[in-house]
Amino acid sequence: MPLIELYGRDGLRNLLSESARSGRLPGSILLQGPHGVGKQRLALWLGQLLLCTSEDKPCGKCKSCEYALNLTHPDLHWYFPRPRLKDPDPSLSDVVSDYQEAIAERLANGGLYAAPPGNEAIYVATVRALVQQASLSPAIGTKKVFVIGDAEQMAPREGNEESANAFLKLLEEPSAKTTLIMTSSEPGALLPTIRSRAVSIRVPPLDEAGMRAFLADPRVARALDDAGVPKSTAERVALAAGAPGRLFGDESRGRSIIAARKLIDAALAPNTSVRHAATLAIGGSGARGSFTDTLDAMLVLIGERIRSALHDSNDARALSATRAADAIGRARERASGNVNPQLITAQLLDELAASLS
Ligand SMILES: [Zn+2]
Repeated sequence: MPLIELYGRDGLRNLLSESARSGRLPGSILLQGPHGVGKQRLALWLGQLLLCTSEDKPCGKCKSCEYALNLTHPDLHWYFPRPRLKDPDPSLSDVVSDYQEAIAERLANGGLYAAPPGNEAIYVATVRALVQQASLSPAIGTKKVFVIGDAEQMAPREGNEESANAFLKLLEEPSAKTTLIMTSSEPGALLPTIRSRAVSIRVPPLDEAGMRAFLADPRVARALDDAGVPKSTAERVALAAGAPGRLFGDESRGRSIIAARKLIDAALAPNTSVRHAATLAIGGSGARGSFTDTLDAMLVLIGERIRSALHDSNDARALSATRAADAIGRARERASGNVNPQLITAQLLDELAASLS
């Protein structure tokens, strides 16, 4: 199964392909933009373009494009944060086979994946492998492309100056045959020595037309249904807020939305016993993380309510939803302190009932 198509981004794609065609594309690029906006997918598209052997790049039809879309192109390398390998000094082939597995996992889902957990990183063995691969000639084409996702998670200094310096040298002067494309949603967290060596390109949120095209892809729709994300396209557009990857944020995402919807329904129920039951279902002080996720999801749903009220010029409804959003915001603040989630929920549902009904 190939990668899911890259949707939208016509302006940026034209700019990049024009730069590549005229030979002005920098050798080291940093794609920066919000989390989940599709920076790595865009980087892989650019890799496909650079490796394509047809006139009209990327043609999507040549062998090279086929390999790139199936992530089997030997000259298209993709690195991103991974758990640390058990062997403290893994060989190049250990690193390569770990990434083959990780990439196969991402590809099994068409290239839709949740953000890696914070304890994963691009460790020094990976940086060493990358530098080593960059020193080799291209395997089948005339170029090599390295995509380095979540580059701020790179830990090249980690007790190994040699790899760090080799990587910086590579970034500074990649050979004419090599293109490095880093991506980051937190460019401020990148080592300044890395940031200063790459040309930054901003990847803005995906526009609504692009988002709708993405959501209409049957493989995307199926993955979202499986993840329990609300079915309506309008809601999906609102939840993603220009960052399709956010919909695949994590496995609990769908659960948070369902829990959020239940709480809002409970607040709207005429019978207070429904509110009590919903409060009890929240559980005590445990699972604080999932409670704050639920509150975040409530904010998203209420935000959608505000937007639709404004769209219908229903000022009263917009105002009451705005009050509800304020109440959720206060609850969110208390939840990050040491307050019992049930207490917060009980008060929040009373406030929501007062503002929304
Ligand atoms: Zn091609």
